[in-house]
Amino acid sequence: AVPTASLRARAEIDLGALRANVRALRARAEGAGVMAVVKSDGYGHGAVPCARAALAAGAAWLGTATAEEALALRAAGLPGRILCWLWVPGGPWRQAIEADIDVSLSGTWALREVTAAAREAGRVARVQLKADTGLGRNGCQPGENWAALVTAALRAEAEGLVRVTGLWSHFACADEPGHPSVAAQLGRFREMVAYAEDQGVRPEVRHIANSPATLTLSDSHFDLVRTGIALYGISPSPELGTPADLGLRPVMTLSASLALVKHVPGGHGVSYGHHYVTPGPTTLGLVPVGYADGIPRHASGTGPVLVDGKWRTVAGRVAMDQFVVDLGGDEPPAGAQAVLFGPGDRGEPTAEDWAKASGTIAYEIVTRIGTRVPRVYV
Ligand code: PLP
Repeated sequence: AVPTASLRARAEIDLGALRANVRALRARAEGAGVMAVVKSDGYGHGAVPCARAALAAGAAWLGTATAEEALALRAAGLPGRILCWLWVPGGPWRQAIEADIDVSLSGTWALREVTAAAREAGRVARVQLKADTGLGRNGCQPGENWAALVTAALRAEAEGLVRVTGLWSHFACADEPGHPSVAAQLGRFREMVAYAEDQGVRPEVRHIANSPATLTLSDSHFDLVRTGIALYGISPSPELGTPADLGLRPVMTLSASLALVKHVPGGHGVSYGHHYVTPGPTTLGLVPVGYADGIPRHASGTGPVLVDGKWRTVAGRVAMDQFVVDLGGDEPPAGAQAVLFGPGDRGEPTAEDWAKASGTIAYEIVTRIGTRVPRVYV
């Protein structure tokens, strides 16, 4: 058998923490259901185990971007309601209908495709109409476009081809407390929902809140909140506080075993481009993960790592499979653990620290951890 890479590096996934986060979010959502957003392989944590844990902790729905992600959950035996929202023409509508997946529609072209698939399958498609209330991304524009989509959906419902199960939207700036667009989007959402309901749409669920809105804006909860990043115990934005401030516990701990520890003289260039030169005689530790594993190359010279109780910094460039830390003369044995990030309560850096060190958001840090790093569920 091919040995696993877990000696080299591993992403430990604390499903107990994930379950606790779901419970915390349910308490915040007060009466609204929680949709566990497990797109992009559960933000890098593993979609299937995270979906199972979320349902066990009382999540009411699962959410994915693509149909393929939703179908993979069903193939793994996940029960219950699943919504997927990112469709392109010619997508696998019929498979989704046959797998009892709710599909999101942002325009009449999608309604035409889903009704054709429902007719072929001899089944009623469950559809949710997505409104663009101001994000300017996916979703149907207000006004005559929304009116046309609602009318066409009601006609398809009368023909027994679809059932409109939801009306929904997505925020642009919910992670910026007080941003005026949030109230504007909420107002427009209420208007678009009221219009559809006046025309005769009877949705099971109306929803607009993502993690930041769930955590900060109870007016936005409606019937369901769609939480992604908070499920994984990460703060949507430093402006909203730390995970602990928000009652969340980070789920992923990324660590690697030092592949080599060696003495070098002062003036020694380190890694490609020699962007780091040792200031004096020191020891270097080789951390065997690199940008192919999702470690941002932008963290060259800045990324923090806990080794032997001390924070060290990526010395020089992050390479494809490895980077180096200056251990300042310490001599931990090869095989000693380098913790890149985790909950932070054992002195290690957090995903937020890596985001800051590489000029990005913590969403990107966890989501990009590559498939070469095994996920170990604890
Ligand atoms: N809803 C939609 C449509 C999304 O695209 C996302 C993720 O970007 C979410 C909900 C979850 O957002 P968050 O991770 O901020 O909770």
